[in-house]
Amino acid sequence: MPRVYNFSAGPAALPLEVLERAREEMVNHNDSGMSVMEMSHRGKEFLAIFDHAETGLRDLMQIPDNYKVLFLQGGASSQFAMVPLNLLRGKTGADYIHTGMWSKKAIAEAKRYCAVNTVFSSEDVNFNRVPRADELHLDTNAAYCHMTFNNTIFGTEFHYIPDTGDVPLVTDASSNILSRPVDVSRFGLIYAGAQKNIGPSGLAIVIIREDLVGSAVDFTPTMFNYETHVKGNSMFNTPPTYSIYIAGLVFEWLRKKGGLVEIEKINIRKADKLYSCIDKSGFYSCPTEPESRSRMNVPFTLSDSGLDEKFLEEAKAAGLVTLKGHRSVGGMRASIYNAMPEEGVDALINFMEEFERKYG
Ligand SMILES: *Cc1c(COP(=O)(O)O)cnc(C)c1O
Repeated sequence: MPRVYNFSAGPAALPLEVLERAREEMVNHNDSGMSVMEMSHRGKEFLAIFDHAETGLRDLMQIPDNYKVLFLQGGASSQFAMVPLNLLRGKTGADYIHTGMWSKKAIAEAKRYCAVNTVFSSEDVNFNRVPRADELHLDTNAAYCHMTFNNTIFGTEFHYIPDTGDVPLVTDASSNILSRPVDVSRFGLIYAGAQKNIGPSGLAIVIIREDLVGSAVDFTPTMFNYETHVKGNSMFNTPPTYSIYIAGLVFEWLRKKGGLVEIEKINIRKADKLYSCIDKSGFYSCPTEPESRSRMNVPFTLSDSGLDEKFLEEAKAAGLVTLKGHRSVGGMRASIYNAMPEEGVDALINFMEEFERKYG
């Protein structure tokens, strides 16, 4: 079986160049005589790998000096609890923008610790859009405001950053981090599980403004306190060393591609051509509102859902895999993160057009 075009929502495709480099270095990294997995996280060999990853991310995202970068475990889901535990700072409530399954989980977790003010919900339209800026009526007294930057399951994305004034804006950027330049200074905290656009699952990246560190509620478990990880430089306990190494290689790969400005251009091209293939056909349709459409996850349905199985089977035979949509949307979902080459999107479009000619 040759390499396929893998449209999985996560864990998702990684750049082939990164995988090949990791393979080359697997058993003997940089003449150390051992693999990265076997190194002490306190040794100078690994510290250089760690520094390469952090510097790589800081350069790509132009993270200001008053922000800490943390490499944590527990995926993005642990952040659903860590955010309220650390950011309430004596306040009793937080604003949440409810745009999908992940925000639902974030809200459920936050409710264990504070009053959640759901400032917007698109649940009644099966999350087919994110709010417009003028629909957000935020509480100026909220401890923070939480948004899901890109809704992986429903295929919607914010194309603007909500203005929350002095209230820190927190975002779950798991599925669109590094897909475009963002002004980090607009956020109090950005978090992301790695398995969509960064590297192996399990690793989570947190970018947090310094002044938000150090006020966790008393009963916060040590491992859930950002201060622990800031003080320990992400090494309070043994960090996910191999995942950090891979993330560093992905950051380097992105830099060589021209950074976030260049990858955004490619991502816009990829998404535009896929959406236009769907929109111009009478056979495929996309359930999301055009202004809210995600560049990373493209859900679409076939006019006859009886053809879904055939579509998936024939796509697989053509080397296009993991296109089955999430059960809450149905149909198909093509996840086209940074590592999906433009040729992969072209191959999908050709396949879709051919399939429509045969069965449409
Ligand atoms: C995948 C995903 C998560 C969950 O990440 P885990 O690492 O599995 O906890 C959370 N939020 C968003 C937006 C996601 O896409």
